[in-house]
Amino acid sequence: MFDFFNAFNFDAIHIGYDFAKFRSDLFYDDFNSKLKTTGRAYPPYYVLWDCTRKCNLHCVHCGAAKEKYAKELATNEVKRVVDELAAMGVRFFAATGGEPLLRSDLLDVLAYAAQKGLATGFATNGFFLGEAKAREIKEAGVSSIQVSLDGPPEVHNKIRGNPDSFKNAVRALKLLIAEEIPIVTAATTVTKANYGHLGELRETLCAAGVRNWRICLLMPIGRAAVADDLQLDSRQLFGLLEFVEKSKRGRMKITLGENTPFLGRFEKRIRSEPNVCPVGFTACCLGVDGNVRGCPEMPDRTENREGNALEQSFADIWNNGFKKYRQRAAVKYGECSRCDSKNYCYGGCWVMREANAQCIYRLLGETAPLA
Ligand code: SF4
Ligand code: SF4
Repeated sequence: MFDFFNAFNFDAIHIGYDFAKFRSDLFYDDFNSKLKTTGRAYPPYYVLWDCTRKCNLHCVHCGAAKEKYAKELATNEVKRVVDELAAMGVRFFAATGGEPLLRSDLLDVLAYAAQKGLATGFATNGFFLGEAKAREIKEAGVSSIQVSLDGPPEVHNKIRGNPDSFKNAVRALKLLIAEEIPIVTAATTVTKANYGHLGELRETLCAAGVRNWRICLLMPIGRAAVADDLQLDSRQLFGLLEFVEKSKRGRMKITLGENTPFLGRFEKRIRSEPNVCPVGFTACCLGVDGNVRGCPEMPDRTENREGNALEQSFADIWNNGFKKYRQRAAVKYGECSRCDSKNYCYGGCWVMREANAQCIYRLLGETAPLA
């Protein structure tokens, strides 16, 4: 049989990647130049709302367990921030947690954001998402939902600590697809616990009608910060990247999400355009108690806080904060400053940096190339 993929000249496809890289470089230069000359940054494209730390499950790798809060933003407080985001020109507002559906006002807030012209979404474990809830989600105008699924039934249920979690998550995916929610994504955190089951999981997702699959490496935060036995070794990571490369030829769109901004030798084989950490340029996070930081995975510590949305305007926080991200501080010192890939990687994920796990070369057992 004719081998289309091997016969095709992939260097030609790389021209598309290089063009996208050129375009994104122009954007980042323009972003900083506008900020410097006017004192006002382009608005973030999306704001993630870290809406609660309550959860009905108890996942072995949970990153949200990294901090607890005595108080969450009230409905009217979040809506006031949404007003500000809409006025700034933010395009997308999405909730994460914890389990967002444990906030009884979640759909009220998202419907409010949708009325203000924002696209909305949330990430969920799907446990409480039955027929009635799927209809409510549709009526609230939610455009994008991500449901976590970490493996076949016994694997997923063990990871999530609940015997019904797989069944309910798959039900949620099917109901959301049936309701024609515009973007339904399955999300998988790959660890030693599910690495050997990815092919089976891909079949499950295809059978459920899922067309978007987001795969992440384990974040070294929360419970995972002390779960060294869950992290993939370099051979497994190599295997995962090969799995993604092969699987992307199928009908399912696979994204290797976002804690691996650069994939070394796999970058252009897997991606059609660069995946730069968006913090401070196109994204930020509204925290559970109103503190604003880079992204939900980023530990809520003083040095990661850019301001509090209950005390300052969101535009002030956005225009005056996020300096280290905008200055690309990670590639200004140490091994990253000498790395030949630094203008693709920019020092990797700030959260993975917490455990010195930001460098794809090191994770693959290789040495970063010197400039
Ligand atoms: S050395 Fe730094 S810039 Fe280079 S690939 Fe590793 S993390 Fe990225
Ligand atoms: S810090 Fe890491 S997880 Fe957060 S947005 Fe950047 S790359 Fe993604």
